[in-house]
Amino acid sequence: MPTSTHDRTILVVDDDEDICSLVAAILEDEGYAVRTAANGAEALKNLRTLGKPDLILLDMKMPVMDGWEFARRLRTECADDVPVVVFSAAENPALRASEVHAKGWIGKPLELDALLDAVSRNVRSSAHAVAPD
Ligand SMILES: [Mg+2]
Repeated sequence: MPTSTHDRTILVVDDDEDICSLVAAILEDEGYAVRTAANGAEALKNLRTLGKPDLILLDMKMPVMDGWEFARRLRTECADDVPVVVFSAAENPALRASEVHAKGWIGKPLELDALLDAVSRNVRSSAHAVAPD
């Protein structure tokens, strides 16, 4: 079955507007539907009003509500089944990812191939056919 991205929704959460719009443009070009939020609080609001995306790309250092707090509240209040991939400029991005039980990480500065690879490997293949693990 051919892989279709047009019905997959990705929520990009980053306080850097340039990163949000760049990543949104890249992913829309690949056929994904993209939503953006400038911090964790906005992202929670987005989830509550628009429903669960198929992947969340999460910056960690943000004002208002950072990535750690957002991830904790995501799991406890909203959805523990939405995959998260962390954006991180940290020296050890894998550690950041493990801190919030993320499926993966993307280093900053962003590299196109790494972004697309992390998204395609971690996005839910179908919102209605997620195999239990
Ligand atoms: Mg930031």
